[in-house]
Amino acid sequence: MFSDLNNKRVLITGSTAGMGLATAQAFAKQGAKIGINSHVATPGLEQTLGSLRQLGAEVEFFQADITKSAECSSLIEAFVARFGGLDVLINNAGGLGGRANLEAIDDEFYQHVMDLNARSALMMTKYAIPHLRASAKKSGETSCVISTGSIAGREGGGVGAGIYAASKAWLHDIHRNWVKEFTGDRIRFNIVSPGTIDTAFHDGKSDELRAKIAASIPMGRFGYAEEVAPTFLFFASHACSGYITGQILDVNGGQIAP
Ligand code: NAD
Repeated sequence: MFSDLNNKRVLITGSTAGMGLATAQAFAKQGAKIGINSHVATPGLEQTLGSLRQLGAEVEFFQADITKSAECSSLIEAFVARFGGLDVLINNAGGLGGRANLEAIDDEFYQHVMDLNARSALMMTKYAIPHLRASAKKSGETSCVISTGSIAGREGGGVGAGIYAASKAWLHDIHRNWVKEFTGDRIRFNIVSPGTIDTAFHDGKSDELRAKIAASIPMGRFGYAEEVAPTFLFFASHACSGYITGQILDVNGGQIAP
């Protein structure tokens, strides 16, 4: 079904764990060429890369902190130098960045959360555009950007997570703007918007809180990273979604139906 992903050059930010890693595994099974990224080289990294390679993928790790614009630029350049171009950019790195109620928010906290979720994707996309444009021109099909949004961007987030929720809503909206600017270049932009997915994102939540959240989801449980990953394959595949751009696909067990 996703056979056109074979040999596609795919860069996934924040992909040493959680949904980014599950997505890398899904692309690896399709024989893609994959850039794995994190701001830190984790202890199990070599093993992770080895198991991805065993799935049939060409894989390289690129250490870069995507909250820093200069590192976004060098990450794109390093990926292109290694793989000869870029067909699919996945802006997945992000996170809560801490919790603060409105009256406790200061400039530093605001900047940190916005840099992690908004400026990071903006700068990654900016530096990727020339390469995505070249990819689409050469293939005669489409290249694409897929960003990880959030249910929080739709419903405002929990108390203390307002900046995080707003940063994801910002991301949802700026994609709509990029559709207007780059559809002529045949670059597509889509969002995968997860609900509550069982990753390190939820570390620190008590069992009681987890049970309460699970009970609020019609499917009665958190989602798994592996249940989100195939939506990235769908958006990356020109054969499957070549006429789809500017959309948000919610993967949330029915938590909200916007
Ligand atoms: P995770 O914590 O399991 O993985 C995050 C990954 O990003 C890790 O590989 C980490 O090393 C990397 N990372 C963190 N900061 C980075 C930086 N500055 N530069 C480069 N890499 C960095 O989290 P996850 O739950 O898989 O989250 C992935 C995305 O999904 C995030 O954008 C998050 O906001 C979003 N999201 C998560 C949920 C959820 O319930 N888990 C829900 C909605 C949206």
